[in-house]
Amino acid sequence: MIRTTIAGSLPKPTWLADPGVLYAPWRLEGPRLREGQDDAVQLWLDDQARSGLDIVTDGEQRRRHYIWGFLQGLTGIDTQTLAPRRSRGGRYAEQTPVARILDEVTWTGPVLVDALKFVKRHTDRPVKVTLPGPMTAADSTVDMHRQRDDADVAMIFAAALNREARALAEAGADVIQLDEPCFNIYLDEVRDWGIAALERAFDGVTATRALHVCYGYGIEQVKAWKANNREWTHYLTTLPLIAASSVQQVSIETAAPGLDVACIEAMRGKDVMLGVVSVSTEGVETPEIVASRLRRALDYSDHHHLIGCTDCGMVPLSRDVARAKMRALTQGAAIVNRELGLI
Ligand code: ZN
Repeated sequence: MIRTTIAGSLPKPTWLADPGVLYAPWRLEGPRLREGQDDAVQLWLDDQARSGLDIVTDGEQRRRHYIWGFLQGLTGIDTQTLAPRRSRGGRYAEQTPVARILDEVTWTGPVLVDALKFVKRHTDRPVKVTLPGPMTAADSTVDMHRQRDDADVAMIFAAALNREARALAEAGADVIQLDEPCFNIYLDEVRDWGIAALERAFDGVTATRALHVCYGYGIEQVKAWKANNREWTHYLTTLPLIAASSVQQVSIETAAPGLDVACIEAMRGKDVMLGVVSVSTEGVETPEIVASRLRRALDYSDHHHLIGCTDCGMVPLSRDVARAKMRALTQGAAIVNRELGLI
């Protein structure tokens, strides 16, 4: 069967954080914050189950930011007082405020394992946990401690991510996904050290090894860049490199305009989480549109390797839209599964 999942994040309820904002401050504190996060995770697990998604996540309801939410659990990193740097190759802005490395970066214990255990207690579906990829984490920090370059910093993050990923796999994570939007930006670096950093992060990890490579959230800066961009061939370079690695599942955008789904042929024999739901618009796809986007992938991938997915995280969308998009996703997959005689 063609299965379904989401890239990772979901919008937070208004009582937990302001909607439509990345890195929005929490509206609760202390034990109330913990309780609010527990409730938000349960609501989204229920919604994902009601929608019929095959693989679920906690919607990143305990994280203000998909990168710093993990980095905060390591030593030596300040995610409060930020410093400017050229990030994402200057694609979306000349300078971006990023976290500062002020001391040795070490993993002293699990960061997300308790959150995973909570999810496992509240669902019987396979669970995916998302973590920032080492290249993207390096691109989102500045090393004020030793001024190391991104390749060296990425390897330090990869070592910490490896400890975390092993702990998550041991605690029952079914899929561990590293988020690497930078794989669509620094193509030479992906070849030179990005894949090596991934392998370091996944070394000995027994859960399914997944990677998310995208063109960014549906926020204004990104949408403005996408509207003007004419070069959409990055996957043609990165997917063959990923296919040759130990990564078993890749999540890519194909719902957004401009992308040619034929690029997934490089992943033949491995799982593709195919973006068939856009995150750039609050307009909800019909199940028929989702089905047509899945159908066109069948020329390049076997159906049992296809997983219908969102293009990226849905955190900037409204809750109602995110719910409706999840339903359209599963209904669209069901249409194609029926056509193929699989259900
Ligand atoms: Zn993404």
